[in-house]
Amino acid sequence: MQSRAEQFDVVVVGGGAAGVGAAVGAARNRARTLLIETAGCLGGAATLKSVQTYCGLFTVGERPRPAVLGVAARVVWKLRAIGGAAGPMKFRGVFLVVDSEAVKLVLDDVCAEAGVEVLLHAHVVGAIRDSGVIRSITYHDHNGGHEVLGKAFVDASGECDLAFFAGAATRYGNHGFINLGTLGTRFGGIKPDAELSAETWTAAIRKGRVDGIPLSKERSLVVRVPLSNDVIAYLASEVYDARDAKSISRAESSGRRQAWAYLDIIRTIRGCENAYLAVTGPAFGTRESRHVNCMQQVKEVDVRGGACFPDSIALGAWGMEFHSAETMDSTFVLPGRNGVYEIPLGAVISADTANLFAAGRAADGDQMAGASLRVMGTAFATGQACGVAAAQYAQTGHAETGEVQKILREQGALIDGDDLPVPVELPRA
Ligand SMILES: Cc1cc2nc3c(=O)[nH]c(=O)nc-3n(C[C@H](O)[C@H](O)[C@H](O)COP(=O)(O)OP(=O)(O)OC[C@H]3O[C@@H](n4cnc5c(N)ncnc54)[C@H](O)[C@@H]3O)c2cc1C
Repeated sequence: MQSRAEQFDVVVVGGGAAGVGAAVGAARNRARTLLIETAGCLGGAATLKSVQTYCGLFTVGERPRPAVLGVAARVVWKLRAIGGAAGPMKFRGVFLVVDSEAVKLVLDDVCAEAGVEVLLHAHVVGAIRDSGVIRSITYHDHNGGHEVLGKAFVDASGECDLAFFAGAATRYGNHGFINLGTLGTRFGGIKPDAELSAETWTAAIRKGRVDGIPLSKERSLVVRVPLSNDVIAYLASEVYDARDAKSISRAESSGRRQAWAYLDIIRTIRGCENAYLAVTGPAFGTRESRHVNCMQQVKEVDVRGGACFPDSIALGAWGMEFHSAETMDSTFVLPGRNGVYEIPLGAVISADTANLFAAGRAADGDQMAGASLRVMGTAFATGQACGVAAAQYAQTGHAETGEVQKILREQGALIDGDDLPVPVELPRA
């Protein structure tokens, strides 16, 4: 173990949408901030799992309204400047399609301009918690273990590794249910005029199923990504436990076999005859794993009713999309009222660890609410709120609601479901 531990105000674990939102939110709130990521790039699912569609940034409808701005808006602006984002477009909900390489570059940039210190290839393996607060974390690199001290911490690891290693209260899934995982797959070699409707692909999969090759999903979003013009689909799915290397290893191997079988079928579709696998993953996409048990939980009824909370710190706008292992299909229930629900500060503060904040898919929602608030657009928003709150905690020993809301507004975040910006136009089909 390294002898002198560095001290930070805020330490963020995990560099996906939630972690980047958190780190930038904290650094902009005058906190010396460290962002630790186990992979060699930022982006989380958008770069490591080929999930190239940012959902939750807009309400659904013919004239969608922005529901998340702040850090996400800066990211989107920079992506558009290099051709790395297209849309908004609609399939069930309204989303942006992004290029993974552009995401890597832009997130490096956004962190650098905010003064975030970023450590890549650093895997968090332990944490010390006493008297109800986390004191330090340990990460490993090829030199061994290193300790880092912090005043406040954000768990944006998706798997809630930080909370779990610290001994904070967590749970796996919700009420015995867990979303399916899916191997995001990008196909190259598809002609410009190829048939890309989800219905055509589903019909081809139904027709092309061969005995002995267990294909899981029949239905997926099918969409071209910017820059490469490759086509992305989320098909090969598996039931596994993302905490367990043995379990996820089986899923990876079986998912890759499925991806090749899907490719054979996709080559029967007009314009897709020369398709090839550009990328599988690189890793299986886990929709759900552990959650941090927080002071409050967003419930299905809150999403259905478009709930308002006096301590709102972010807005959710995506449908409750639960991917079931029984049906191999997913629900999609939109937020009620004006298409958004508010997310309260209590849903991102650990129930038993005062200086621990839970961002992105680590945040606290029940089975169906969690299946909405997990998406990357919303993860940027809960992340930014966690970062601002963690910086407040580091400075004052307390994350006071009014102050957190004030700073989030100053940072351009949307937190009031009754005060959405003007609608944007969807391109005509
Ligand atoms: C197949 C699939 C399709 C999806 N479709 C969409 C979609 O179309 N649109 C959408 O918006 N969302 C979609 N989602 C959901 C979305 O991808 C996730 O919910 C979202 O990425 C959550 O963001 P996050 O930042 O919380 O977590 P992640 O993106 O998972 O990021 C977590 C980060 O933490 C890092 N990490 C983990 N453990 C450690 C550790 N111990 N030490 C250091 N770093 C660590 C990881 O490497 C990763 O970079 C989909 C998910 C899947 C699996």
